[in-house]
Amino acid sequence: MNFIVKNTTILNPLDLIAPHSCRGCGCLGTILCDCCKNNIIKQRSTPNLKNLPKKFPSVYTIDQRSGLLDTLIHDFKYNSTRALATKLAELLNASLPDFPPNSIVVPLPTVSQHIRARGLDHTLLLAKHLAKIRHLKVQKILIRNKNTVQVGANRKTRLAQAKSAYFISNKTKVDSNITYILLDDVWTTGASMKAAVKKLQQAGVSKIVVVLLAISSLDQ
Ligand SMILES: [Zn+2]
Repeated sequence: MNFIVKNTTILNPLDLIAPHSCRGCGCLGTILCDCCKNNIIKQRSTPNLKNLPKKFPSVYTIDQRSGLLDTLIHDFKYNSTRALATKLAELLNASLPDFPPNSIVVPLPTVSQHIRARGLDHTLLLAKHLAKIRHLKVQKILIRNKNTVQVGANRKTRLAQAKSAYFISNKTKVDSNITYILLDDVWTTGASMKAAVKKLQQAGVSKIVVVLLAISSLDQ
């Protein structure tokens, strides 16, 4: 009999034996050992994004989406491996410059169906961990319009959906003196982030930085 198993349900077999095993080398006791973490930091390159809009903020990322970093992001996002939030935040922290102490981390909102299906708002969790390391605040300034699901949509549809994907929460007053750190997991077409940046700029924010776990090599 054939069983079709969605990759969202696959568990690392080593996790059945030990609580965690390093996703890089398999050593037991941690989900990402210091050695594998340092290798990612040492080997990271700075991907160049092309065709960015004018006045687009600086973009910071750990690396291109490939190898172990890709495995970690996939595991975090689709297998809801919460323990990776800390490790990915540590990797981000090592990849970022200093920010003003009153900067605010703004997670790009995740599609609510995905949060329900995965049991985890991975971008918000990542934002909280990064903010904790940097002693910054997190604010959910951006709200996602419903019915803007990106997974599976083709590039053209995604670009069209992204333009109307976000609005600014009416509970929030943006401050033009504060740096807003817009955080998302992966830059694929960049459509979501471009739309989010535009929304904040239209609301009067001028100090924005863009932070991503990784950039898909497809879109460089
Ligand atoms: Zn390792």
